[in-house]
Amino acid sequence: MALHEVSAGDGGGPDDVFASSLSERVLPKDRLPEGQSDPKVVYNLLHDELLLDGNSAQNLATFCTTFSSDEVRRLMAESLDKNMVDKDEYPQTAEIESRCVRMLADLWNSPQERTTMGCSTTGSSEAAMLGGLALKWRWRKKREAEGKPADRPNLVCGPVQVCWEKFARYFDVELRQVPLEPGATGLRPHQLAHYVDENTIGVVAILGVTFTCDYEPVAEIAKALDAIQMNTGLDVPIHVDAASGGFVAPFAQPDLVWDFRLDRVASINASGHKYGLAPLGVGWVVWRSADLLPEDLIFRVDYLGGNMPTFALNFSRPGGEVIAQYFTFLRLGREGYRRVHQACAGTARYLAGRIAEMGPFELLYDGDGALPAVSYTLKEGHRGFTLYDLTEQLRTRGWQVPSYPLPANRERTVIQRVLVRHGIGRDEIALLADDIERSLKRLAPGSTGAPERPGFHH
Ligand SMILES: *Cc1c(COP(=O)(O)O)cnc(C)c1O
Repeated sequence: MALHEVSAGDGGGPDDVFASSLSERVLPKDRLPEGQSDPKVVYNLLHDELLLDGNSAQNLATFCTTFSSDEVRRLMAESLDKNMVDKDEYPQTAEIESRCVRMLADLWNSPQERTTMGCSTTGSSEAAMLGGLALKWRWRKKREAEGKPADRPNLVCGPVQVCWEKFARYFDVELRQVPLEPGATGLRPHQLAHYVDENTIGVVAILGVTFTCDYEPVAEIAKALDAIQMNTGLDVPIHVDAASGGFVAPFAQPDLVWDFRLDRVASINASGHKYGLAPLGVGWVVWRSADLLPEDLIFRVDYLGGNMPTFALNFSRPGGEVIAQYFTFLRLGREGYRRVHQACAGTARYLAGRIAEMGPFELLYDGDGALPAVSYTLKEGHRGFTLYDLTEQLRTRGWQVPSYPLPANRERTVIQRVLVRHGIGRDEIALLADDIERSLKRLAPGSTGAPERPGFHH
């Protein structure tokens, strides 16, 4: 598949890429070269080197978009020069960002869907930082108004993605991570009372737990916090980390109440580049209403022309991803997202069925009711091989299926997870299931280990 173009042979030099002087050398790796090189040769050599990266369509570990239509690729190329921060120079890109925020506020049932605040980010991590900062600022203001100390904020959560650990450390907030109960796939509401106190800036509820792919029960978590407020007077807001679920639940589980329909949900983040189906590099954060984003977190910049409000960790940032997100909203509409996610969910359930039939596995999440994904572990007492061995076997066919331990207190359970995304069809997953079966035979006690691959040892 390499694109080996033949150059024009300018000035009598060699005209074949692999006869050029650059391709006869090891490429510079530590120091900028002194001279210039033919862009066609450089392109081809880099193109070939990058083939060593895995094939993203077989990367079943990532939540991120690995399939983009030609139109998205064109819009991305045409937007290469658009700087998201430069709203005066690129007013239509800025306008498109605002449209996306309003559409998301509406999709997530904000009571002020046309006037509330929100913005695009580089992903859910930045969006989570902004959501967390707003929680911290509001809590501090309230504490100061009450004449109480505001120097020991904490954030309560279950098995969160690393971005919340970063938020806590970077912004000096104690992270109170509630350990997993036996058999649980996320935070359980009755656990909260032991962790929430007057210094709690908020509770993070996860719609699509990274480790297990299940949703945490946001409505029940809100109810538990209502009870805590009744008993103690503490009014603790929820931020929903809907990195994956924010773009799945509204379409695949429209009756699930997890969003701004719950009064306690103050803000929501989601990754446009996960099930939002936009290319890598875009996330979103939206507040329930404009008053929940403290004014003193917003900077006003005038040196680019105009007076532009900005709330972001980055300054300059590409605009193409936001444009591609808007394209995807227009292209698919609610029906399109529903159809795409339903197809993925059907394929996930198909895989869960195959996995269950194979024998050694116990399903943790079977693709029903939350993200289109499957997670499973080896049955208790299973001997002979580990999931890490299976990961390695599958890798020989190019599949990336991660194995990892669950977070505390279930760290002795090692699991495997497969994410089914846009661009991954039923047949591809059937081929994966066949390869898992073949791997099981090879890993079985007494197998020579390598009927198909002579000489393969590990
Ligand atoms: C992926 C993920 C994040 C981080 O999102 P990025 O868009 O990769 O920055 C945060 N929280 C959850 C639950 C996630 O799945």
